[in-house]
Amino acid sequence: MSEYPEYDYDYERIQSAFPGAHTYSVPQSVINEISQYFSLRELLPPEARPLGDDGWHLFDPALLLVASSIREAWGRPLMVNAGGTRYRGWRPPNCATGAPKSAHKEGRALDIVASWQQNRELWQLCLDYPGVREIESIDATPTWVHISVRGDHHGCRIIRP
Ligand SMILES: [Zn+2]
Repeated sequence: MSEYPEYDYDYERIQSAFPGAHTYSVPQSVINEISQYFSLRELLPPEARPLGDDGWHLFDPALLLVASSIREAWGRPLMVNAGGTRYRGWRPPNCATGAPKSAHKEGRALDIVASWQQNRELWQLCLDYPGVREIESIDATPTWVHISVRGDHHGCRIIRP
């Protein structure tokens, strides 16, 4: 008998690869929704790709839903990791990039990027978007839009990285 409760994903496999990682039960309907717009491959750093589809369970489903909804409202391509970036989506618990307690390490934040010179417009869309709890100041990070679903405060907080 497993020492862990029942999961609909391979909890032990995730913990053995990334000790202390937050994991979530993510309904298949949510995976279907986000997959229309973002691949798991662009949401994870290369070191997490061996998890396969279990990697979806590193993300808070609330984040996946809000990202899908923003992409739908935006109506144009959006990227997370592209080219040389690797930590704009999920980050491992011991990741040296970014803040030690970053919401990226909880699977509750994404740095999304619009096409050339549209990030400020994207930021305006994301600000106060239903479900977005935190957004980084666009003046601090003009080349991406950091959104997070962390926190139970009311409204959307503008934070500085
Ligand atoms: Zn970020």
